[in-house]
This record gives sequence, C-alpha cells and structure tokens, in this order.
Amino acid sequence: MIFLDAAATTPVRREVLDAMWPYLTGEFGNPSSHHSLGESAAAALAGARAAVSGVLGCRSGEVTFTSGGTEADNLAMKGIALARQATEARLNRVVISAIEHPAVEESARYLERFHGFAVDVIPVDGAGRVTLEALAAVLRPETALVSVMYANNEVGTVQPIAQLAALARSRDIPFHTDAVQAAGWLPLDVKALGVDALSISGHKLGAPKGCGALYVRGRTRIEPLVHGGGQERGRRSGTENVAGAVGLATALTLAHAQQLQTAERVAALRDRFIGAVLGTVPRAVLTGHPTERLPSVASFCFPGTSGESVLLELERQGVVCSSGSACAAGSDAPSPVLTALGIETEVAQTAVRFSFDSSISAVDLETAAQAVQAAVASVRTLGRT
Ligand code: PLP
Repeated sequence: MIFLDAAATTPVRREVLDAMWPYLTGEFGNPSSHHSLGESAAAALAGARAAVSGVLGCRSGEVTFTSGGTEADNLAMKGIALARQATEARLNRVVISAIEHPAVEESARYLERFHGFAVDVIPVDGAGRVTLEALAAVLRPETALVSVMYANNEVGTVQPIAQLAALARSRDIPFHTDAVQAAGWLPLDVKALGVDALSISGHKLGAPKGCGALYVRGRTRIEPLVHGGGQERGRRSGTENVAGAVGLATALTLAHAQQLQTAERVAALRDRFIGAVLGTVPRAVLTGHPTERLPSVASFCFPGTSGESVLLELERQGVVCSSGSACAAGSDAPSPVLTALGIETEVAQTAVRFSFDSSISAVDLETAAQAVQAAVASVRTLGRT
C-alpha cells in the first residue's frame, strides 16, 4: 500500500515509541505524586516541555500539553476570548479565516451561541490566502482575538502568518495560529512568527493520537476550559499524559532537526507529482496556492468524476489518500474550504488530497501518479456508460 494520507495521521515513529515506552511501563508514576515514581514522571514531563519550548523558541511555562490539536484550538479560542471579555465587556468579536479547521470554526461559533460574540470571517483569495487588506478590513476596536491557520489541511496553502500577526499586534489584538499541519514542515519559532498562541498535534508528526500542545505568550490571559486539580499551571486540569507529552516532544524534536532538508526534498517530490498528474490527467486542476503550499500536500479536482469514486478506485490500486479532510470525509456536502476558494460545488465534489510524510519516496509517487491517471480515466469512463 502507498499511504498518501499523512495529513490525516501518521504512524508512530520507532524513536518516539522507544522514548515513550518507559512512561507506559516501569516509570508509570503520576507527576503529582510525592514519591520517586512521581518525581521521575514529573521530570519526564518537564523535559518534554523544555524540548517543545526549545523548538517553539519560547519559555517552558508558555507550553500547555493538551489532548491534541482540537483541544489546543478550543483552549486558545475560548480561553483567550473569554478571558478578554471578562476583563473588558466590549471585547466581544472574534476573527477567523474562511478556511479554518472545524476545531477553530466551531469554537468561534460556540462563543457566538453562548457568550454573545460576533464572528468576523476573513475571506480568502482563489489560492486560499488571507491578505493583509482582508484582515485589516475586519479588525475592530471590539476584536478580542484573531485566529488564522498557518497551513491549510485540505489544500496546503500557507498563510503569511508573520505579517498577519504583526498587523493584529499593532492593534493590541492577540493572534492565534493553528500550526497542526505546519509543524514539521515550516519554521515554528513563535517570536519570529510574532504570534500569541499556536497549536500543534502529535499524530501528524509521528507521535500518537491524543497528544498536542498550545503555546500561549507569557502575559496573555487565558481561561481554562477543563477545571480540576490545577495541573498545567491551572490551564488544563487532569493527570498529565506523560508518555504522550514525551512522544510529542520526541517527534517534534526529530522533525525540527530535519525540517529544512525534509521540506526541500519532499517539496521537490511533490512538485514532480503535481507535474505528472497535471501532465497526464486531462482537465485536472491543482487546488490551493501554486507555490505557497505545504511540501506535504498536493490537492486536485478532477472534473467529471466524484472524489469518492476516485478514492475507491485508487485504493483498489493500492494508493490510499483522502477526498478532503478526514474530518469532513463521509459527508456529501462540498468542502467549505473549497467553496471559500470560489470552487463551484460540482467541481469541489471531485476533490482528492494526497499528503505525504517524511518517508515518502520518488518511486512511490511515480507509481501513485500512474494510478491517479488510470483511476480518473476509469471513473470517467464508468460515468459515461
Ligand atoms: N487543525 C488542523 C489544521 C488539523 O488538520 C487537525 C487534524 O486534522 C486538527 C486541527 C485537529 O487535531 P487533532 O486531530 O489532534 O485533534
């Protein structure tokens, strides 16, 4: 099988599993316990936090471990917006882009439904980019928070985060970015990016599902969503997932150490794959930005097919990919991301996303490109009969 669905999830790396193993077995202590097992778990957690903060270029105390990207996004959106509203009641608007992951979009809608916020949505251009002008147009004195994802999970478009964050900062508005798909591929230094909050998730990087982290800049106020024993400096109660934190830290450190070389190598393979698909599949359309895109994502529409049928045909040929984001998979509605890019419903329903991890090879992508050509041709022929 050729696995081209790494944006949905990745297998746990051997080094990550090895690093986690002691904390799942012999060193099973609770970091809050006052005995040697607990102390050893607390030390592992502190080490993991230091490693994550090293990659993000922040202080250890600015990293909160969560159960994944979804929780990190929820904590950032609700936690920061509610804390700001509590300090100043007029701060009752949040800004998100039109192509956010549901973890951000639905958090904003929750704030709207239950806490009196208005949600301002920044449109994107045909390539999925948020422009500075579009952000400037929605900022108001009442804006409590801006959230724009670093890189999109369906089309791979990368946003000019440093410029967008600088604009928000010039108005004293906290800026959050969902870096779940960017982690491992793009620089994550939070100071260089100028962001106040940033979410990451382990399972997109070779760590297990169910572990993630949120960076929150030192003086940013944030309300916890999960109350209890006050772990994670009161930001996220609950006995810490020590092994998960160690796994996330190990995966992130490994990815960071190889980021430049991996990104360059995979981007070159991606471009060859895109060229092969566009060159051999009639009427294939690349979605997202032609250059400002993740090295790991190639996404297309194949008019005259249905994305789901192409997907099934590809799987029959041994290539596994996705017809959109894993979260929206299984629904017939066109992807809101593709709709926001101005792609017509009929065409949006023909979308297929191929996404790669660092282990992808040239041979696999050549085989996959041939399979795409055959699969699209077969679905189109069947559609005519
Ligand atoms: N944000 C983005 C951009 C994602 O792609 C995903 C996962 O698909 C998430 C957030 C959610 O992360 P998790 O699966 O760790 O909850």
